[in-house]
Amino acid sequence: MMGGGLLNRISMRGRMTVLIGSALAPLALFLGVSVVSDYDTTLFAARRELLQTANLAAAREEQVFATSRVVLDVVRRALSIEHLDAAKCHEMLAEIKGANPQFLSIGLSDPDGTIACHSTMTEKVRLRDLDFIARVLDPANGEMMVGPYTVMRALNRPTMMVAMPMSDNLGRHAAMVFAALDLDYLSSRAESLSEGGRRTVSLVDATSGRVLNHYPPLDDAAGDLFQTHPLMEAIRRAPSGGVTEAPGFGGLESIFGFQPIGGANGNALIVVIGESRNALLAPIQARSIRSLVGGSLTLIIALLAAWLLGYKLKVEPVLRLTRVARRIGSGDFMARGKLEPWHAPELRDLSETLDRLALRLAEGRTAEQAVAASEERYRLLANNIADLVTCVDNDGIRTFASPSSREVLGWEPEELLGQHPRELIHPDEHDMVRAVFESMKTGASIHDVHFRMRHKDGHYIWVGANGRQSETKRFFVFTLRDVTARKQMEEEVARANRQLASLASTDGLTGLLNRRAFDATLEQAFAAAIANGLDLCVLMIDVDRFKGFNDQYGHLAGDDALRRVAKELRSVLKRPGIAVARYGGEEFAVIMPEARLSDALGEAEELRQAVRRLAIDHAASEFGVVTLSIGVSSLTASSGIRDMAEFMRRADRALYRAKNNGRDRTEFGFGEISVAS
Ligand code: GH3
Ligand code: MG
Ligand code: MG
Repeated sequence: MMGGGLLNRISMRGRMTVLIGSALAPLALFLGVSVVSDYDTTLFAARRELLQTANLAAAREEQVFATSRVVLDVVRRALSIEHLDAAKCHEMLAEIKGANPQFLSIGLSDPDGTIACHSTMTEKVRLRDLDFIARVLDPANGEMMVGPYTVMRALNRPTMMVAMPMSDNLGRHAAMVFAALDLDYLSSRAESLSEGGRRTVSLVDATSGRVLNHYPPLDDAAGDLFQTHPLMEAIRRAPSGGVTEAPGFGGLESIFGFQPIGGANGNALIVVIGESRNALLAPIQARSIRSLVGGSLTLIIALLAAWLLGYKLKVEPVLRLTRVARRIGSGDFMARGKLEPWHAPELRDLSETLDRLALRLAEGRTAEQAVAASEERYRLLANNIADLVTCVDNDGIRTFASPSSREVLGWEPEELLGQHPRELIHPDEHDMVRAVFESMKTGASIHDVHFRMRHKDGHYIWVGANGRQSETKRFFVFTLRDVTARKQMEEEVARANRQLASLASTDGLTGLLNRRAFDATLEQAFAAAIANGLDLCVLMIDVDRFKGFNDQYGHLAGDDALRRVAKELRSVLKRPGIAVARYGGEEFAVIMPEARLSDALGEAEELRQAVRRLAIDHAASEFGVVTLSIGVSSLTASSGIRDMAEFMRRADRALYRAKNNGRDRTEFGFGEISVAS
């Protein structure tokens, strides 16, 4: 889980660095290992070489001891203890010494240490190391012995004595042949092994811990005891020779090869060859530093190159695309990937995909903005015009109503939604509106169609509707305008016009047609009757003795009587198409289209009697009540009349006859038809 958390936080750069680092790590490891193994190889070779050199040196020194044994053996055989000629002995020893540079001196001594003969000295001197003499002369010993280190006083030279017993005639060890080994000679031979002073060459006595000889010379240490020195202890631990690393006798940290010298009886003499560790490793160090620096530089350059290449080729384009994607995500659709042709095709593909995506989104947003703008415009229109804008779906359900519904119908827009418009339309107009709606479904639009709708208050208002189907054919849009005021005004105008028209054609007192209208109507009826060969009758009616009525009752009463007569005319004469007029004064006229003479006479009689039955008092009349005289004129196909004036004259004449014949009667305008009263 922690690893996951850590991984979550590692960026692409970090990951690439880890990747390159892990690819280059083995190279760095190889570099390190090769440097270390270089050290190891060098040290291993140096140890082997030092051991070999120590072997070689030990062999050489062994040769010195072997030679010494031969020389001492020759000397003891050549001399006789019993017949020693001192002068001759001295001469011989001096000669032998001269031929053997390894010896500082050579001599012959008695068991008590008295020197009997010597290569250099002639005076009698005594050896003091009686213990050594005793060991050499021990009867069990016949070999050469090597004595302890000592500094020869006469010459002030470090030396070791080598000695052999010499027998008398009886075979007893009666004297000792000895030689002082020149340790500096040994040293000078060792010098050739020092490789030009790079190595130390020393001869040590492991038993005593004494450094017998050292090259290069130690300041004061030659002959010193190094009993507890680590090197000395290492030498004592490996008596048959070996290699060790330790500080040298001069104090320098070194590697040493050491080997015991054979043939140095009585002493554990060891040759030690040393080489300074620092001097040995100096060239390796230089080489290692060179290869470490070179390798590190190569690694750094490789790392930088890999990092830069990886960054340029992979990380940077991916980061760029990530930024582009983030900008697109936050609504910046102008962002573009802009990868180079040398970028990986997969990344370019991704970049182009992002570009296309941004383009699509931009187009979508433009379209969206356009739609929003137009929607806003329409909403603004719908909200601000006085007309009620409303939408109705194909099932006739209202889906939208603009706020002006409050002003137009008194309803809140929400109250109108989901409603069927029929619910508010006046029942008388349901059929009309349904027919209009059906026609709109076929694509027709409507203009100023009027119908009534119920206001929230309950009263109906007139609306003028405009509407059409939407382009998607999914709904209908209407604008409804309150036209009640306009409608009322129109009706008032119509009524006024009707009144005007009727004023022009009716008689003010009786409400019957006036003379002008009568003339016009008669003209049409007469022309139609002539043209179609139809019957036509006309009645001329005159109130009897009306001058006397006025005189008797007054003019206002006369008017009243005329109105009652006119009313009776209207109620008795019911034929369709009939026209009743006040012809003038107390005279009336009736046009009866398609009426035969008999019908006209019948109706005239009925009328005369009805008026009589009104029984309007008329004291000035011989009848006591108001009566009528009626003249009838008839037009038939056979009547021969073609002139309207003639037709009317006949009616006039018939009326005149009725007057003459005693009044209160009906006369026909051609023959003399008299109807009894
Ligand atoms: P008759 O027809 O029977 O021969 O006698 P008449 O008195 O009716 O005859 P005339 O035609 O001479 O008189 C008509 C009278 O009718 C004259 C007038 O006083 C009266 N008159 C005419 N027009 C009106 C009217 O509008 N109102 C009133 N009150 N009287 C009218
Ligand atoms: Mg008259
Ligand atoms: Mg009259």
